[in-house]
Order: sequence, then structure tokens, then C-alpha cells
Amino acid sequence: MKEELEKIHQDCQVALALAKKESEISDIRIQVLGRKGSLTQLLKRLATLPEGERKEIGRRANEIKQALETKVEEALRQIQERERKEALEREKIDVTLPGRRMAIGTRHPLTQILDEIIHIFSRLGFEVVEGPEVELDYYNFEALNIPKGHPAREMQATFFISEDVVLRTHTSPVQVRTMERKRPPVRVICPGAVYRCDSDPTHSPMFHQVEGLLVDRGITFSDLKGVLTVFVHQMFGKETKLRFRPSFFPFTEPSAEIDIECFICGGTGCSVCSGTGWLEILGSGMVDPAVYRFVDYDPEEVTGFAFGMGIERIAMLKYGINDIRLFFTNDLRFLKQF
Ligand SMILES: [Zn+2]
Repeated sequence: MKEELEKIHQDCQVALALAKKESEISDIRIQVLGRKGSLTQLLKRLATLPEGERKEIGRRANEIKQALETKVEEALRQIQERERKEALEREKIDVTLPGRRMAIGTRHPLTQILDEIIHIFSRLGFEVVEGPEVELDYYNFEALNIPKGHPAREMQATFFISEDVVLRTHTSPVQVRTMERKRPPVRVICPGAVYRCDSDPTHSPMFHQVEGLLVDRGITFSDLKGVLTVFVHQMFGKETKLRFRPSFFPFTEPSAEIDIECFICGGTGCSVCSGTGWLEILGSGMVDPAVYRFVDYDPEEVTGFAFGMGIERIAMLKYGINDIRLFFTNDLRFLKQF
């Protein structure tokens, strides 16, 4: 029995040394020290031995039992320690790895241009006002000196909702609404979407305008020229040449269109400026006294000027875009360029 005891001790030590996993150690523990384990069984058989031998082997067996229990604990601790080290190694975070970039959208080119326009005019003291896109015929035409049957109505292919209600064809009705609400001085710009029944590479049924209005005592055509010259120089660069060309609008008198020197050919003539060397960018004029009648302003007391421009047109010129429809098809390949 003594030899058997020493063999259990030795075998168990060898097995523990070879074990690589926690589960293997548990198995060894059960096989040797468990309720039916080899050492436990041996201890039970001690009672059958003669007393002298029983004492000696019993003492030795208890020593071995304690030694093995300690060894098992030790082996378990080592394995756990090793596994924790391996896990740490495996899960190590490489802080030098480049992060994954989030796809961030950009502002639409039209929004960028509009923000720039608003920025320039707000520094000149203009306030932004907005109005309805579904508009009464009265505000869209009548109060702007365009009565029924006026040829200017034909120039603006209108979407009619009913006989008296239209999708606004320009942002000018906002000027009338503003003057109804506010006594002079008035100094506003009105950005927004407008609608005309028209579609080709340079016309879209929905597009955007910014109109401006300044009414006060003693406003002259010089003020119009001064304000719009400042705008053109800030928008297109200080060196930009511009010219005021006589024109006609029903709600201004006199009226002028503003051209800037073609920045593609530098004024020598190219396909973008149709060989003229000039690009038309703005309509403007002194507010027709007839318009003041509708809003109860006294044309003897106040004067003013108005102007308007297409945001798409400015963006197309500034970025060299040749098809207005690109702004509205939401093609990311196009939009990401701005
Ligand atoms: Zn040109």
C-alpha cells in the first residue's frame, strides 16, 4: 500500500506538470482527490491495516494529500495567470491605428451661395424676410403693377392653383407684404424658392431668387449703384468690372440690368457669355411710384430701389456649372465637389 501511495503521488505530480488547461487540472483533482478518487479510496482502506502500519502510512497519506491539494491550487493559479496574460495580449488596443471616418455631408452649393449673399447684404444693414410660396395673384402680380392682361404676365409662365392663387413666380410679393406691414425705412432681402413652367439646361420649374428692397427718404439711383457695386465686388472679387444696362420691369422705373465682365474669357468673348464678354447677373431699378399706391406709402416723401437675382445662375457662373438640373438631382458625385 505504501508503494501504491507513492505511485499515486508521483503520477499526479507528472499529470499536473503536463496539464495545460483548467479543465485538465479539474479532472486530475477529481481522479485523485475526489470522493471516488484514487487517494480518497486508498485512505478508506487504511482501516484494514494493522495499527503500526496504519499510523505510518496514514501520516504519509495525509502529507501527500495536502501536498497535492497545494499543487493543484498552484497549477490552477498558474494557468489562470497565463490565460489572462494571453487575453490581454490578444485584446491589446493599437492606439496608432487610424480611426474610421464618419461620412459627413456638406452644405448644398445653392445654400453656400445664398449664405454668402445674405452675409454680404446683412453687413450692409439688410434684414432677411420670407413669405409664402403659394401666393395670391394680387401680391404676385397686381400689387407689383402687373394687372390682368399685362404682357409681363406672359413672360412668367405661371403655375396657377386657382384663378386667384399661384405658385409665386418671383420673390417680389414678399416686398409688397413687407411694405404693407412696415413703414419706411425698409431695408430687406427676400430669399426663397420660386416656380415657373419651364425646363431645360438653364431653366428649372423650381429655382431660387434673392430680391432686395430699400425704401427711405432721399434714396437715389446712386444708392442703388453703390450698394450693388459693393455686392458684386464682394461676391466676384474687387477687380470685377460691371456695367448698368437700361432694361424694363413693370415694378421699377427706371430699370437696369447689371452685367459683370465675363470671368471665363476676361471680356474677349466666349461660349459662356455668347461672345459678348459680359454676363448678366442682376435685375434692378427704382421702385415705380405706382407700387407705393398699393402699400400706402407717399411717393412724394419716400423713394427706393429693388433688385433681384437667381441663386442658381450665380452658382452656375461662379462654379462653371452648365446644367441647372444638376442642383436638384441629388447626385453625391456632383454635390461632394463643393
Ligand atoms: Zn466669356
